[in-house]
Amino acid sequence: MLCKIDYQPAADLLQGRIILITGAGDGIGRAAALACARHGATVILLGRTIAKLESTYDAIEQAGGPQPAIFPLNLEGATHADYLDMAETLHQEFGRLDGVLHNAGLLGRITPFEQYNPELWEQVMQVNVTGPVWMTQALLPLLKASDDASVVFTSSGVGRKGRAYWGAYAVSKFATEGFVEVLADEMDNQHAIRVNTLNPGATRTQMRRTAFPGEDPDALRTPDDIMPTYLWLMGPDSQGVNGEKVDAQPPRQ
Ligand code: NAP
Repeated sequence: MLCKIDYQPAADLLQGRIILITGAGDGIGRAAALACARHGATVILLGRTIAKLESTYDAIEQAGGPQPAIFPLNLEGATHADYLDMAETLHQEFGRLDGVLHNAGLLGRITPFEQYNPELWEQVMQVNVTGPVWMTQALLPLLKASDDASVVFTSSGVGRKGRAYWGAYAVSKFATEGFVEVLADEMDNQHAIRVNTLNPGATRTQMRRTAFPGEDPDALRTPDDIMPTYLWLMGPDSQGVNGEKVDAQPPRQ
């Protein structure tokens, strides 16, 4: 298991890097945006709820981080053309990307497959897989313009071993793992782009509360607790790591 929970990032680890983070308004994505900015990155905050993105933006400014940017986008309705427009805007604004954290995710419902609603299934696949895949394709020219780019896709324990009732969410994370195997193999030794999956593990967020309503949240690690592995993957210390299944925390006993 590749896990860097004890990693100690240098204060200037991400100095000068430009990193896009999806789902940056809440939960793990918000913590990742703040952590990357704290270590010197200019972060592009992507998400569907502008007020939440603004709150992350304000927190970064208050902490004295590099000025971030907000990119409002709903992954559910976004088309291939929207991703090309997005890439064009980012090209004009920044010229390159040194990192992408595909973090936004939709849980769907924990329910027997027999009762799974087909529309909800499509939504989950759109937000968790199809959107990030086409976004990545559109952003490849910007990533190729970097001399050290890291693309991280967020997985889950149920994306590595299936579990009853996890339906579209589990399938979407398996698809993510498969896509990363394909893309990482294509990138291998070709470009300065590495692509890996990262499983946050049980983390104290709204999504976790929805999935496990009876659980004591205080027994879980917080998004801040798991940031060392995120920072390691985003920074130069993980150069050469490609196509790996990384864990942000050790499995719970
Ligand atoms: P969260 O608190 O529910 O945050 C999810 C984020 O995704 C929110 O910022 C949300 O935006 C955004 N999002 C959802 N649908 C979107 C859409 N259609 N377009 C754009 N953004 C959208 O969840 P989290 O726990 O931080 O999860 C982050 C990632 O970790 C997810 O990929 C999740 O599958 C994965 N994960 C989490 C755990 C855990 O224990 N927490 C474990 C394994 C994997 P809004 O706030 O605006 O809705």
